[in-house]
Amino acid sequence: MKVFVAAGYGGRGEDFCWVPDGELLSLNSVVCASQCGCERAFSGTQTLKATTTGKVCEIDTIDLVDLARDVGARSGFGEASAHAQLVLACAAADQFAVGDVVRPWYDFEHDTWRFDAST
Ligand SMILES: [Zn+2]
Repeated sequence: MKVFVAAGYGGRGEDFCWVPDGELLSLNSVVCASQCGCERAFSGTQTLKATTTGKVCEIDTIDLVDLARDVGARSGFGEASAHAQLVLACAAADQFAVGDVVRPWYDFEHDTWRFDAST
């Protein structure tokens, strides 16, 4: 299955990366409208920290239910929300090629995450 993993600083002026390389990424359960960066960042599943870029990686199937239980408990957003975000992130990763570097952004008008591969 394809997932997004942290792959360091993206190289654009507005990029940031607080997630160690290789950490599996999900999406934020909640985004704010203050443009703090949460509306354009992945969330690390171990550190719960943010990064504006994710690299598409092919991995062995993982148990998203187990991971969601863990992330949901540690983040405070709960298993259901964490699971929904993980499924969304994996579905998004599946639309790109392995190695692509992708930036998420939250489409407030349509209340959904969108993804752009950098070129
Ligand atoms: Zn925010």
